[in-house]
Amino acid sequence: MNPQVELSSYPGLDERIVIVRAGDEVDAVFVRTKRFNVMIDTLGTPELCRRALDLLEQRPEARPLVVVNSHMDWDHFWGNAAIAGRAPIIAHAAALDRLRDPATRQVLTDKASEESRFRDVEIIGPDITFSGSMVLNGGDLTLELIHTPGHTPDHIAVWIPELRICLAVDAVEYPIPEVWSRSADDLRLIRSSLERIRDLDARLVIPAHGRTSSPSTVAENLAYFETLADRVGRLSGSRLADPELGSASGFRLEDFVAIPQDMPSATLAFYRSCHETNLGATIEAHGEGRP
Ligand SMILES: [Zn+2]
Repeated sequence: MNPQVELSSYPGLDERIVIVRAGDEVDAVFVRTKRFNVMIDTLGTPELCRRALDLLEQRPEARPLVVVNSHMDWDHFWGNAAIAGRAPIIAHAAALDRLRDPATRQVLTDKASEESRFRDVEIIGPDITFSGSMVLNGGDLTLELIHTPGHTPDHIAVWIPELRICLAVDAVEYPIPEVWSRSADDLRLIRSSLERIRDLDARLVIPAHGRTSSPSTVAENLAYFETLADRVGRLSGSRLADPELGSASGFRLEDFVAIPQDMPSATLAFYRSCHETNLGATIEAHGEGRP
């Protein structure tokens, strides 16, 4: 079953910005500027994306549409087929490497075998790519696309300086973000991307999951990785090699962050596996003698 698509907002959020929510799956964001509209992410299926476009076009002002893919994780770009031919799609150049990786197609094969709603998904890549950063000048609002790797190599966040709003997508996540792999390099990247977002000193930080707009999530994510490095740093070699370390008291997810009572068990299982990857990367970084 496709989740319900609805338009939403946060307290204090400028009315030019609309949260496009696909149930508990993911949030995309729609930004109206003077010159054009920007949609950041296309949701998990073309059907969901079409529903979002229908809801958004009920608004009177029709301007050209520009679409940004924050990164090539399924829930953020599998709706691209609903956009192709209608609007240019922008992504970071590293997105092309991910599209060439057979693992990307494998995720689709696996998910389509589990749920019929994924059977009409076509993997469609971006029309325009950039390295470093890119700026969309909307006239009244500026959208700075900032490369923030670590969750994935191609991840970009969006900074709107006029409103001091950061659309952090998956670079910031409640309760915890997930590092790309168990490697020390990726851990370093996710931590420096979080620091970069922290240094923006945003008024609102809006991730794609977790329904929060509080900038405090950035500090909490950074504190999580710091505590993780700290606790791993105090362990002996034999404990570091223990594959069950993530289930040991003091090293479980709930020993680092408070887990809401009402978190669905599938969501909790997902964040436990994120924590395992983060722990693995932290152990590798410790072995290499860096934080
Ligand atoms: Zn995501």
